Amino acid sequence: MSYLNHSYKRVRIIDLTFSSALLLLAAMLVLAYHIRIEVALSNKLTEHSYEVIMSVDQLNNSLLQAESSRRGYVLTGNPQEKARCLSFSQRTEDNFQDLKKLTLDNGSQQGRLNRLQEYMNRKLTIFRLSLNDYDRKGFNPDSQAQFTEEGSTLMGYLRNGIQDIKIHEKGLLAVRRAEEQTSLMVLTMVILSGMFISFILLSLSYYIARRETRNHVLAADELESANRDISDLSSMTQLLQTCSDFEEARSILASYGHKFFSGDSGGIYLINPSRTLMSDVAVWGNAEQAPFTPDQCWALRLGQPHISATEADVRCQHVPETEGAHLCIPLSAHHETLGTLDLNLAPGITGAELEKRKAKAAAFAEQVALAIRSLQLREQLRELSIRDPLTGLLNRRHMEESLLREISRATRTKQPLSVLMMDVDLFKHFNDTYGHEAGDHVLKEFGHLLQNQVRESDIACRFGGEEFTLILPEADCDTASEIGNRIRSAVMDLQLVVGRQPLGRVTISGGIAVFPEDGDTIQQLLARSDEALYVAKKNGRNRIEGSCAAAAVAAKGKADK
Ligand code: GH3
Ligand code: MG
Ligand code: MG
Repeated sequence: MSYLNHSYKRVRIIDLTFSSALLLLAAMLVLAYHIRIEVALSNKLTEHSYEVIMSVDQLNNSLLQAESSRRGYVLTGNPQEKARCLSFSQRTEDNFQDLKKLTLDNGSQQGRLNRLQEYMNRKLTIFRLSLNDYDRKGFNPDSQAQFTEEGSTLMGYLRNGIQDIKIHEKGLLAVRRAEEQTSLMVLTMVILSGMFISFILLSLSYYIARRETRNHVLAADELESANRDISDLSSMTQLLQTCSDFEEARSILASYGHKFFSGDSGGIYLINPSRTLMSDVAVWGNAEQAPFTPDQCWALRLGQPHISATEADVRCQHVPETEGAHLCIPLSAHHETLGTLDLNLAPGITGAELEKRKAKAAAFAEQVALAIRSLQLREQLRELSIRDPLTGLLNRRHMEESLLREISRATRTKQPLSVLMMDVDLFKHFNDTYGHEAGDHVLKEFGHLLQNQVRESDIACRFGGEEFTLILPEADCDTASEIGNRIRSAVMDLQLVVGRQPLGRVTISGGIAVFPEDGDTIQQLLARSDEALYVAKKNGRNRIEGSCAAAAVAAKGKADK
């Protein structure tokens, strides 16, 4: 959640910086365009001032040329000088008109020109008068001297006036050029600073976007690995749920432990029923640990995960001195502690990575504990469903299943198989004499005795009431008879006591049926053994009967005769 919040915040910052940069660039463009227009205008005005100055110079030049041509003509009478004087007079007039047009936008210059107009007209008139006077009278020193004098005076006024106009225009030019410079400087500053700020903003958004992308990639990786873990956990749970015993679960736990904590060795240790020893159910990696006692593990003692990451941390006593951190997580389900998950983490794992590993191990431990508990419960249930609670022997249903299996095995191996049916003699009377509780005690004791007297491959069951069945694979009638008699003797030797009250002796009778002689089905074998038992009862009880026993009796009878 907090990652998402941070992510949204960063995206907002990227939006803000990026759009600010774009806005700034747009504003800069508008400003630059505006300044560019201003500069163009200022350029035009500068050019205009240059034009005015040039025009003033031309006017001055035309006047001087006209004057010098006039003087040349009146002194030499050269008609070319006259033509030049007239031409420059005309040009002076044209220049003056041009200048007036050029300065139409400038009132003060117009004022100056208007003031010059009169002198100009008079100066041009003097040119004409002087030329006409020469044409009419030839060179007349007096009149020409008069024209020259008045002309010189006028020329002085005109020169001053023209100079005035020029100075003023130059002043304008200087101002315009300064303005132009300022505009250019502002334009440059605006563009440079805008570019700089935009660059900073764009770099910032790029940096944040890059970091965000990297975070996204990391988050996606983490999400993917979390999904993988969840799917691994669920497939492990599924497999464990279908396990029929701990042997099967062992390999599943080891392979998932290895898969889940690749690089970290570890193991799952379960506490024994008397809660005195922890022994391994599954180990992976190079974890090799001898069984240990529960009080050697801090996680078990505290009932919470225990981690020892540095030399300063307290280590569990069962943990060997290795490099890297060690993590113990108690396995508990339904408020019952079942064992621990031990992990030897690869060296160099610290900080956030250690925390992540701890959370992952806790999730693994939780699923493992639930699966183990369910396996234990299933095993207990199975035990309950196949065992008789009073004697601890297998029940009749299970006996029938076992007998079926043993018959097919005996058929296959062509070995004999005996069924010994046993019944406590006069048990009703025993119950009546000592009570039902004492009767139960006898049955229990007989159950233990039976269990101890037979081989592991033999199958002892409580058939019902005070009747018991023993399935004896690979035993022929003689062997079965021998075993039956051994049991019978052992029963006679039982010292039965309930509380402090000694009980009377009990005896049993037994009947043997042998596969395949007496039958090859469960029903036939049970019926034959029951018949043999009936014979034993009839013959006085406390005996074992069967086809071999009958044969032995017959043989003995014959010998006696
Ligand atoms: P027999 O020698 O012919 O077998 O005589 P019996 O008295 O043992 O035979 P019967 O079948 O008449 O009696 C069986 C008695 O076993 C009846 C019942 O009270 C007793 N019994 C059966 N199941 C139990 C049990 O679980 N506990 C106790 N205390 N008695 C049981
Ligand atoms: Mg009976
Ligand atoms: Mg009986």
